Amino acid sequence: MSDEITGSETCVVCGKTIDGTSGVSHVAHQGRNFTLCCPICLQMFDRARDRFARGERPQSLLDELMNQTTWKETGR
Ligand SMILES: [Zn+2]
Repeated sequence: MSDEITGSETCVVCGKTIDGTSGVSHVAHQGRNFTLCCPICLQMFDRARDRFARGERPQSLLDELMNQTTWKETGR
C-alpha cells in the first residue's frame, strides 16, 4: 500500500519535510498519493483537493482556506 513511498516525504500542503510517521496521513486522489503531515494539513487538502493535486501550493489558497475554517469555527 505504501510501496511507492521511499525516503523522505513532503507535505503537499505546507511543504514541510516529514520525519517519522506520527500524525502523517496519506490520501489517494486522482490515482496519486498525497502526503499530509498533520490533521490540519489534511483538512486543508480536503477542502481543495483538485487545486493541490495540480501541484500548486499557493499561499493565497492556504490563507483562503484558513479564513474559511475560522469562520466555520467561530460562526456559531
Ligand atoms: Zn503539512
